[in-house]
Amino acid sequence: MGCCDAPGLMPIEDAMEKMLSRIQPIQTTQRLPLPDALGYVLAEDILSPINVPPFDNSAMDGYAVRRSELALGQPLTVAGKSFAGQPFDGEWPAMSCVRIMTGAQIPPGCDAVVMQEQASVTNAGVTFSVRDVPHNDNIRPTGDDIHHNDVVLSRGARLTPRDIPMIATLGVSQITVYQKPKVAFFSTGDELKPLGEPLQAGQIYDSNRYGIKPLIENFGCEAIDLGAIPDCPQTLKATFEKAQSLADVVVTSGGVSVGEADYTKDILEQLGEIGFWKLAIKPGKPFAFGSLQNAWFCGLPGNPVSAVLTMYVLVQPMLAKLAGHTEWQAPQSIPATTRTTFKKAPGRTDYQRGIYSIENGQFFVETTGNQSSGAFRSMSLANCFVVLERERGRVEAGETVNIQLFNATLY
Ligand code: AMP
Ligand code: MG
Repeated sequence: MGCCDAPGLMPIEDAMEKMLSRIQPIQTTQRLPLPDALGYVLAEDILSPINVPPFDNSAMDGYAVRRSELALGQPLTVAGKSFAGQPFDGEWPAMSCVRIMTGAQIPPGCDAVVMQEQASVTNAGVTFSVRDVPHNDNIRPTGDDIHHNDVVLSRGARLTPRDIPMIATLGVSQITVYQKPKVAFFSTGDELKPLGEPLQAGQIYDSNRYGIKPLIENFGCEAIDLGAIPDCPQTLKATFEKAQSLADVVVTSGGVSVGEADYTKDILEQLGEIGFWKLAIKPGKPFAFGSLQNAWFCGLPGNPVSAVLTMYVLVQPMLAKLAGHTEWQAPQSIPATTRTTFKKAPGRTDYQRGIYSIENGQFFVETTGNQSSGAFRSMSLANCFVVLERERGRVEAGETVNIQLFNATLY
């Protein structure tokens, strides 16, 4: 460990840059019914075909009036009603008002709505406790929210639960989106046992696929689970071939650390081109990236924390680019004061797992304990990464560190 760890290891920023510079967004588009489009990336600008609201309407339950008549302070008779969806279309004689409800169309000639709390119904008509109200008071004018032809959402936006009702407001029922990147993934290792079966000597449960899948799906990509594959070159090669025929990206876990890396590398070199990288990050050093004939390849380390961490930190930005999600932003760093010590040796960028809290507007962070890359509890307990710079050594309580709050894909 220590500073001797760094030579030959690629800084994470360089690795990101190398990956992203090679990847081109998927151009294939499809038309989808609006309710099915959640999580897809828009392939078109959404222009409003209408004004919103489409007509002047009342913001209150009350009475539509003409201000010049209201100002006289006389009772006004009720000429009729305007309810939501049932506009008033009768005669509106002088010295009268129209009973109106929220969302109902404003009758022509009306220049204010008086809320019902300021009105009382008497035998002589409606009397009002106000005489002088502002022009267009309690009226929501046509196009107040959105004008016809306004760009409401831009190409490259990933559709959130807030975007779908926004588009519905415009009456748009079908939209054009980019096809979601397809990500095929599998675990490798003779030691892996399916969940629900008893462990034999030397076996562990295959947890990595259960960490990788939600990170793919929460990120708006399609996940194709190819299972757990034993460390057998023929089976591995066949699985790689199948994976690249099904997907845009092939993600594996395990088999890239010293020992197993050699035959993984052999297989990959037969099927494509590999920039087998060792990154200057901890955990996650044995991360690999390359291209197969028909897909990109990301080889995650087998240790469960490393697998989820490299998927989140390195693969997600790549998926964002592939998906055409131009508005995606990497998690921001926030300074926080440490509440505990953090063990660290200079040499690599550490992504330690922490728990942050906010007190009086200040961020504080404590360690989740055991930071072994095999100890998944450190991820499960955490709500942020504590990103410790390469040169940095042990951190004492009370020092300032940078934290990255987990984004929605880890929640
Ligand atoms: P490897 O990268 O294959 O050398 O694996 C490194 C460590 O991660 C070993 O302790 C493996 O047993 C463990 N590991 C590999 N794959 C998985 C998996 N799918 N689920 C849980 N642990 C794994
Ligand atoms: Mg292995």
